[in-house]
Amino acid sequence: MFAQHLLTLRALACTLPLLLSLASPAVRAAAPEPPLRLYVLDCGHAEFTDFRAGSDTGELDGKPATLADPCFLVRHPKGWLLWDAGLPERLPSSVTGGVAHEDTLRRLGFRTWVERPLVPQLQALGLTPGDITHLAFSHLHFDHVGNANLFMRATWILDRRELAWALASPAHVSMDKALISGHRTARTLMIDGDHDVFGDGSVRILHAPGHTPGSSVLLLQLPKAGAVLLSGDLYLSLEGRAHRHVPAVNADRADTLASMQRVEAIAQRLQARVIVQHDPAEFDRLPKPPAWLE
Ligand SMILES: [Zn+2]
Repeated sequence: MFAQHLLTLRALACTLPLLLSLASPAVRAAAPEPPLRLYVLDCGHAEFTDFRAGSDTGELDGKPATLADPCFLVRHPKGWLLWDAGLPERLPSSVTGGVAHEDTLRRLGFRTWVERPLVPQLQALGLTPGDITHLAFSHLHFDHVGNANLFMRATWILDRRELAWALASPAHVSMDKALISGHRTARTLMIDGDHDVFGDGSVRILHAPGHTPGSSVLLLQLPKAGAVLLSGDLYLSLEGRAHRHVPAVNADRADTLASMQRVEAIAQRLQARVIVQHDPAEFDRLPKPPAWLE
């Protein structure tokens, strides 16, 4: 009887580590890491009396347009990425040539406005700018970097060619170096093409030059929505995507067309949802906080 107990104890002693080793992954699995989420924030709007800048082949000459200017917040188990930082509160004088903000529609044919500052939108999600761990931009035009300098604790992921172009003198149209001055003191990660933000393939920056030399799009693999592509300014509207309009304000037409071809091929292969960032109808359709896309 005693010997039998001893055998049982020995068997237990042998199997216990095995049982524990089998159990521990199950214990870990009981507390899963939070899944990837995409929040869409309202980072401003623009209105044009004549949107000829939207296409260099004349289709939009004389036609009015409104544009949305969202920021996108990606929650990943390893951190928070802000993709694009929206419009500044006031148009920079480097863009307006000194025309008063209130007078830009009459004098320049367009105006921009910010209805909801970014910080309260982050606070509504329980975040402060200091919680954003990664900051990346589709490109560095003023309407995508307006709030960039708020995020001095984030790693700024910058395309090397894009930054060099943005800092060139004299400044290119639609650029305002002051809006990205934080790059000088923030932690930066310079990239030279595609980049896997969190190292697991779920959040990838794809090089899509043309609109500017270092323009890019963001490819997400969301658990339920599947592949989602954020367009940056590769397209300015759904109509622009359908007809492959190349904006009149654009660095390299051939590069833009090649980038459209690449991004469309990837979107088709992955059956991705392409979100045209500036399109107001697209913006209206997207879920807004506290809702998200996952
Ligand atoms: Zn833009």
